[in-house]
Amino acid sequence: MAEQRTDVIIIGGGMVGLTLAAGLADTGFTVAVVEARQPPPWDEAHTSNRVSAITHTSRRILDRLGAWDAIVGRRASPFEAIRAWDAAGHPGVTFHAADRGEAWLGHIVENTLIQDALREAVGRRAGVALYCPVAVDDLHTGDDAVTVRLEDGRRLRGGLLVGADGASSMVREHAGIPVRERDYGQRGIVATITTEQHHGAVARQRFLPEGPLALLPLVDGRCSIVWSAENARATELQALSDKEFNTAMTAASEAVLGQVTASVDRAAFPLRRLHAESYVAPRVALVGDAAHVIHPLAGQGVNLGFLDAAALVDVMAAARERGRDPAGYGVLRRYARWRRGDNLLMQSAMDGFHWLFSNDDPWRSLLRNAGLGVTDRLSPAKALFVDQAVGHRGDLPSLACR
Ligand SMILES: Cc1cc2nc3c(=O)[nH]c(=O)nc-3n(C[C@H](O)[C@H](O)[C@H](O)COP(=O)(O)OP(=O)(O)OC[C@H]3O[C@@H](n4cnc5c(N)ncnc54)[C@H](O)[C@@H]3O)c2cc1C
Repeated sequence: MAEQRTDVIIIGGGMVGLTLAAGLADTGFTVAVVEARQPPPWDEAHTSNRVSAITHTSRRILDRLGAWDAIVGRRASPFEAIRAWDAAGHPGVTFHAADRGEAWLGHIVENTLIQDALREAVGRRAGVALYCPVAVDDLHTGDDAVTVRLEDGRRLRGGLLVGADGASSMVREHAGIPVRERDYGQRGIVATITTEQHHGAVARQRFLPEGPLALLPLVDGRCSIVWSAENARATELQALSDKEFNTAMTAASEAVLGQVTASVDRAAFPLRRLHAESYVAPRVALVGDAAHVIHPLAGQGVNLGFLDAAALVDVMAAARERGRDPAGYGVLRRYARWRRGDNLLMQSAMDGFHWLFSNDDPWRSLLRNAGLGVTDRLSPAKALFVDQAVGHRGDLPSLACR
C-alpha cells in the first residue's frame, strides 16, 4: 500500500489534537490525524456529563479556527462569576467578570460539542486528513522522518510525530519520555443536577475536607457537577440511590441552591497528576494531556492543552518562515521551553489549592479563611485571579491574542 506523505502526523483526535491540526493547516502545513475511537456525537436532546469551563483565551483560539460559532449556536453556558467557599463557615470569595470589565468569565461547554465543532472545522481544511477510527500498529522515528503503520495496513510518513493521545500517551512511551506522576487518591464524580433555585450564571466551588465540589451552571438552569472525593468516599457516593445522592449533594453544597431535586448521568473518573519530564524528543512533540494532567479543581486542563497547540503552531510557522526545518529539535525545544514552565506553574498552583483545602486541619483552615478574606477585600488580588481564570496570562500564542 502506498505511503501517504504529510508534514505532521498527530496521534489523537481529541479536543487538543484537532485544535493543533486546524491551526497547522491554516499556516500551510499538511497534517494527518489518527484517532482510535469513533467519538460519540453531540446530542441536542441530552446534555453530556463531561463538560469543560472554556476561558476567553480558549474561546479566541476556537473562534479563529472557525469552531466557536458552531458551539455557541448549539449550546454553551456563559457564567459571569465564580464563588468559592469552604466547609468552615467562612463566607468565601466571589470573583465577578465585571472586576475586569468583562461580561463573562467563561463558558461551560460539553466536550462532545467542542469535538464535533473542531471536527467540522478540520473537515473544511484541505490540508488535514483524518484517519478515524483506526488504531496505530507501529511507530518509527528516524533522523529526518517518522513513519506510522495503521492497523488497516495504511502507512503515513511525516516530519513530525505529535502525541495528542491523552494521559496514557502511546507516543510519549514510544519516545521514552519519562513522567512524574502522583495519584491524588481521589475520584471526580460528574453528574447533571437540578436544584430548587436557579444558579444565576454563577460557577460555585465548595472546598470540603474530602475534596472540592464544583457546581457549573448550565444554560437550561441545571448544573454540571465535579465532586472530587477520596476513593473510599467516592465509592460510597457512587453506590447511593439517586434520592440518597441528591440528599448528599444538598448537604455538600450547603443547599446553596436549595434542595437538589434530581441528578442524572453519575460517573466517576480517577484523578491524578502527571507531567512529562520533557515535551519533546527528536521528531516528537507532546501536547495536552499527553504532556500534563492536572487536578480538575480549577477547570484548566484542556485550556492549557489549547495553548500548547497554539504555541506549537507559532514556533513551527516561524521556523519555516526563516527557512529552518519546522520540526527540527531546536524548534521543538523552543515550544517546550514556552509551555512547560507555564503548565508546571498551573499544576503546582492546583496542588497548593489541593493541599490547603482538602483537609480539616485547623491551621490550614485558619490560613485559607485568612486568604479568602484578604482576597475578597483586595481588588488587585481579585483582578489577578480573574485574569488567571479567563486565561489572560503569560506570553500568549498568536491564535490566543486579543
Ligand atoms: C472530571 C474532570 C473534569 C474536567 N473538567 C475540566 C474543565 O472544566 N476544564 C478543562 O479545561 N479541563 C477539564 N478537565 C480536563 C480535560 O478533560 C482534559 O484536559 C482534556 O480532555 C484533554 O484533552 P486532550 O485532547 O489532550 O486528551 P484526551 O481528551 O484524552 O483525548 C485524547 C484522544 O486521543 C485518542 N487516543 C488515545 N490513544 C490513542 C492511540 N494510541 N491512537 C489513536 N488515538 C488515540 C483518544 O481516543 C482521544 O480521543 C477535566 C477532567 C476531568 C477528569
